Amino acid sequence: MKAFLAAVAVAFGIALAPSAALAEAPRLLVVATTPSMGVIARTVGGDRVDVQVLVAPDRDAHTLNARPSMIAHLRRADLVLAVGAQLEEGWLPAALDAAANPRLRKGQPGYFAAAEPLHLRPTRFDPALGGHVHGEGNPHLNLSPPRMITVAHAFADRLAALAPESAPAFEAAAAAFEDALRSRLPALRARFGAPLRLVAHHEEFDYFAEWLPVELVGFVEEKPGVPPGPAHLARLIEQQRGQAGTIVLANYQPQAPARRVADELGWPLHALALEPATADAESYFALIEHWVDSLAQ
Ligand SMILES: [Zn+2]
Repeated sequence: MKAFLAAVAVAFGIALAPSAALAEAPRLLVVATTPSMGVIARTVGGDRVDVQVLVAPDRDAHTLNARPSMIAHLRRADLVLAVGAQLEEGWLPAALDAAANPRLRKGQPGYFAAAEPLHLRPTRFDPALGGHVHGEGNPHLNLSPPRMITVAHAFADRLAALAPESAPAFEAAAAAFEDALRSRLPALRARFGAPLRLVAHHEEFDYFAEWLPVELVGFVEEKPGVPPGPAHLARLIEQQRGQAGTIVLANYQPQAPARRVADELGWPLHALALEPATADAESYFALIEHWVDSLAQ
C-alpha cells in the first residue's frame, strides 16, 4: 500500500502528509459492504476517510443476516458504499432500517450503490426458472478490474459532493488506481495460451470474460443461488464430456457438486478467493494475480 501511495504522490505531485486545512477537516466514516468496496473507499478516500467493512472476505454477501455490529457501524456512518443490484438484499435493507441513519437513505448523498453507475452484465439465467438473486443484473462486478475502475471514478465524484475541498485529491486517487490497475492487465492476459473454457459454480465468473481470454461454457448451479439437482449435473457433464476445460468456484461455495463434475470430466478444479484479504489497492492487485496464477496454464 505504501508503494501505491508513493506512486500516487509522485504521479500527481501531492504530499502524503495532509495539509493543515485538510487535517482539521473531520474524516468521513465510510461503511463498505464487501472488502472490494472497502478497497474503493480506502483507495479513493485516502486520509479523508475511515473505512469499516461489513462482510469478511471469505463470506458470501448473498447469504448473510443483519448483525448488531453492522447496525452500530451504519448508525455512525456518513456514507454507505454497497454493491447494490440485490447482492446485499438479504441483510442490508434490514440493517439500514434498524440503524435509522437519515444520511444513508436511498437518494441521499450518503447512500452509494456501485451497481448504479454501471451497466451490469445481464444474468444468463432465465428468470422464469426462479432463484432471482441476479434479477437486476449480475452484481459480482468486482471480478472485473475495468468495472472497479468505473466504480472508483464514480465514488470519487460522490465523495467530492460530501467533501468538496478534497475533490482534486479524490479524483487523483481514482486516476492513480486506474493507471496502476490498467498497467497490470496486459501481462496477466498474456499468461494465457488458448482461450480457457470454464464451467463455474455461480455466475460471478461471467465478469472474467471482460478482461481475460476465457469463455464460460456452463454453470454448476441451475439457478443462481440454488443448489443444483442431479439431473442438471448429469446434463452438464454430458454436454462437456470429451472437451477440455476448468471448473471454478468461490472458496466459500459448497465444493461437492463442482467436484463431482470435475472428477467425471477429468478437469482441474480451482476454489478461488473472490475478495481481497484487506481493504486496500495492493490487496486487490494481489487478488487479480491470484486468479491468473490459478487459471493460466
Ligand atoms: Zn450472485
